[in-house]
Amino acid sequence: MKILVVGGAGYVGSHTVRLLEAQGHHVWVFDNLSRGHAESVKPEQLIQGNLTDRPLLMKVLMEKEIEAVMHFAAFALVGESVQHPAMYYQNNVVASLELLEAMRSVGVWRFVFSSTTATYGQPETMPIRETTSQNPINPYGFTKLVVEHALRDYANAYGFGVAALRYFNASGASPDGTIGEDHDPESHLIPIVLQVALGQRDAIQVFGNDYPTPDGTCIRDYIHVDDLASAHLAALERLEPNKMMAMNLGTGVGHSVLQVIEACRRVTGHPIPIAMAERRPGDPACLIADSTLAQQTLNWKPQYVEIEKIVETAWRWHSTHPRGYKS
Ligand code: UDP
Repeated sequence: MKILVVGGAGYVGSHTVRLLEAQGHHVWVFDNLSRGHAESVKPEQLIQGNLTDRPLLMKVLMEKEIEAVMHFAAFALVGESVQHPAMYYQNNVVASLELLEAMRSVGVWRFVFSSTTATYGQPETMPIRETTSQNPINPYGFTKLVVEHALRDYANAYGFGVAALRYFNASGASPDGTIGEDHDPESHLIPIVLQVALGQRDAIQVFGNDYPTPDGTCIRDYIHVDDLASAHLAALERLEPNKMMAMNLGTGVGHSVLQVIEACRRVTGHPIPIAMAERRPGDPACLIADSTLAQQTLNWKPQYVEIEKIVETAWRWHSTHPRGYKS
């Protein structure tokens, strides 16, 4: 299939591009490189542009005869969304609607969307199912939920076939160590812990140890980026006109911050000192996915269930690219 991967130069996008190509799809990457990295994709497949540039977008959709769009382009930092909501509504909502309108006007109906656990907010029961009510607690979660609603309406009214994939904590890197996570500034746990192992930081700050969890630190469901990529491929193959699917992508296993740090110690052999710090505003105590629906609907299963195996791939990337793509 001819696929436009919007935000394909980003973290999850670039891993998905690799997989789609390996499966014989014809892939174009549309990215404004505001957060993505040109080095993560082939120069000949990269189209640099903004989603708000309707003429360019329509030209690409038509000239490349695009049959499906995967949309990864978004800002995705909770704290930043609280400080700069306008930026988030503009980039995550307005730009997504522009993309949908461009697709509608040229008749492209297949759409796979990166959604998030953040659309659920702080559910009281674990694990989180798709039937759990979606009550976001920050602008990031709201922007993704707004687009999910728009997609349901586009499926009903205009015949779009949609998959909204709600990721839990994307982590790890391509096992060959050539592409991986590179955010500036970095805010995610595993890359920051590995920066300590690389000697770039003295200690890892643990944001709160008084949560109602067994060791007092937050629990998350870390899902390998290649497992996310394979779910995108499976979802693409199952899109049907007039239908929207929404599903969780996680392993169903939770790890506390201290358990992640311990796994990083084992993988790197570095003592990784800890500094206890205040809770980070907006962090729910525990987020674990029930991804039975994705497993059944997509015939998908995460290949990485052990946190150490995930960290090993991340470490291969970070230790060979200590400054990310600039290394
Ligand atoms: N965390 C931490 N120290 C850090 C970065 C993150 O203790 O320097 C914690 C954070 O409070 C959360 C977990 O690690 O409980 C995962 O955070 P991350 O930002 O990686 O993902 P999120 O769950 O916020 O999407």
